[in-house]
Order: sequence, then structure tokens, then C-alpha cells
Amino acid sequence: MGPRLILGKDVSEGIYSELRSRISALAAAGTVPGLAVVLVGDDPASQVYVRMKGRKCEELGMRSVTVKLPGDAAQAELMEKVRELNADPSIHGLLVQLPLPPHIDEDAVILAIDPAKDVDCFHPANVGRMLIGKPAFLPATPAGVQQMLARSGIETRGRHVVVVGRSNIVGKPMAAMMMQKGEGADSTVTVAHSRTADLAGVTRQADILVVAMGRPSSITGDMVKEGAVVIDVGTNRVPDPSSPKGERLVGDVEFESVSAKASAISPVPGGVGPMTICMLMANAVTAAERAAGVIQ
Ligand code: NDP
Repeated sequence: MGPRLILGKDVSEGIYSELRSRISALAAAGTVPGLAVVLVGDDPASQVYVRMKGRKCEELGMRSVTVKLPGDAAQAELMEKVRELNADPSIHGLLVQLPLPPHIDEDAVILAIDPAKDVDCFHPANVGRMLIGKPAFLPATPAGVQQMLARSGIETRGRHVVVVGRSNIVGKPMAAMMMQKGEGADSTVTVAHSRTADLAGVTRQADILVVAMGRPSSITGDMVKEGAVVIDVGTNRVPDPSSPKGERLVGDVEFESVSAKASAISPVPGGVGPMTICMLMANAVTAAERAAGVIQ
């Protein structure tokens, strides 16, 4: 018998159905949650993400605003757009799609976003709030991983969570969230990265292993403890001549060898992937509920 599969599609469907009820309640009280996405330039992957976000908003009955600026837009123009959207009461969530062109100061843009609308949870005020256990929003991808664990009934309290990767959008917030007091967390956390000595020795200690390296098939069966829960955040395109597109998506985890050891595992694709947009939508609904005074 293989390991149990933890599928983001199934988990996100449960969350979407809760969001639909919250959105209906808001609509009954006269508020339609509004999400604005600012896209600078024509990076194809960013265009796809922005389109997916807009489509999901519409599907859920939320308002979606996409602001497109040319790739050579000036910093001041982008900052002005952010200020306008900050001031627009029909917009509850606001994000600027990253990466930005190299001439733009990304930190300055993130700092300009009203923390109350910062649904990506990139503003330092929101990162700080998360760290002290008083979150306004949770960053979407790690929050999605936490929901996958919680909604699959996986105990995290007292378990050893090893996070491989220390990026600001996945690894660091993942570690910060799992070490918090309370439900869905209370874990003992270790963070590994490219300077970790003896990565396999560290990953073998994990009861729950969350991998966000961006290196295809790097975690192999011999690096995983028998019975561990493995969540693969990695999304890598690798050449595949047998596929019509000439490439396929693989995770950071070598699925076959790790499946032979794990008690539960999230595949790629179909695992964490759908969770990011789902948690972004959840943040936007939360922002609208706060603005409407439904929650504090
Ligand atoms: P980054 O490239 O920003 O970070 C990768 C991290 O992995 C770094 O901390 C790096 O260490 C570490 N790392 C790299 N090589 C090794 C190694 N050989 N051993 C140990 N650690 C290593 O990536 P992100 O965090 O942004 O994303 C990680 C992966 O998750 C990517 O594949 C990305 O596409 C995917 N992703 C998927 C999402 C989704 O499914 N919805 C959303 C977001 C990301 P160091 O800091 O020392 O360089």
C-alpha cells in the first residue's frame, strides 16, 4: 500500500466552499470583496498567474481589478498606482505581482502597500505580526501547506518539522508559522538551506518534511524517515521529449523513492499548487470582512 496522497485540489475545495459562504454573508451586508493585482511588464508566467487570480475572483463572486503597466513604467508611476488603490474603498486586497523589472525598487513598492490590504503578507509590518503570533494575514503558500496538514488530520504539535529552503515567501514564513503556539502549529522546527552541512542527516530527522528548494527531484527516499509526512512545494519544469510541450512539472522530491518511505505525501502537480491562490482569496475575504467591520 502506498502513502496517503495530500491533494491541494481537495483541500482547496473545502476552503473555497467556506469562502463562498463568507462572501455571500458579506454581499448580504453590502460588501463585495475586491482584489486588485498590479502587473508590470509582460513576463509570461506572471501574466498566467494574474489571469488565474482574476478568474478565481470572478468564480467566487469577488470583484477583480487588474492594472497593467508597461515594462518600462517609472517607479513613481507604479507608486502612484499603489497609492490610488490604497485609497480606493472598493479594493480590500492589493498585490503587486513579483518579480518586478530590475529598474524598480521592489522593497519600496512593498512598503507602499497599505498593510491592511497586503494580502500577499509581504509588508514588513505583516511579516512581523506573523512572527509575534498576531497575524493580520498569512503568506499564501506556507498557509496553504499548513491547511493541507491540518485538514488532513496530521498532528503537528510536538512533531519535528524540517523546512528545506529559507526564502522570504516560503521557507522562512513556513518555519515561523509552524513554531507558533496553537492549533496546526506547536512544532519543533529546523530550517535547512544550501549551506546546511549533511542535509540528509537533517531531513531524516523530520516527522514532517516541507521542501521548498526549487531543485528538481533533490530529496530522495534515503533522505526521509520511515513514516514521515512529506510536503513538496517545489515546482520545476524539466525537459521531457515524450510530452507534447517538451517539458513537464516535477517537484523537489523524488516521488517514487520517497513514496516508499512516507506515510503521506503531496505530489507535484496536484499537491501544494492549487493552495496558493486559494489562500490569497481567503486573505482578500478576510480583508473585506475587516473593512466591513464583520471581524476585527
Ligand atoms: P528560492 O529559490 O527563493 O529559495 C530556495 C531555497 O532553497 C533557498 O533558501 C536555498 O538556500 C535552498 N536551497 C537551494 N539549493 C539547496 C540545496 N542543494 N540544499 C539545501 N537547500 C537548498 O525559492 P522559493 O522559496 O521561492 O521557491 C521554492 C520552490 O517552490 C520553487 O520550485 C518554486 O517554484 C516553488 N513554489 C511553489 C509555489 C506553489 O506551488 N504554489 C509557490 C511558491 C514557490 P539558500 O538560501 O542558501 O540559497
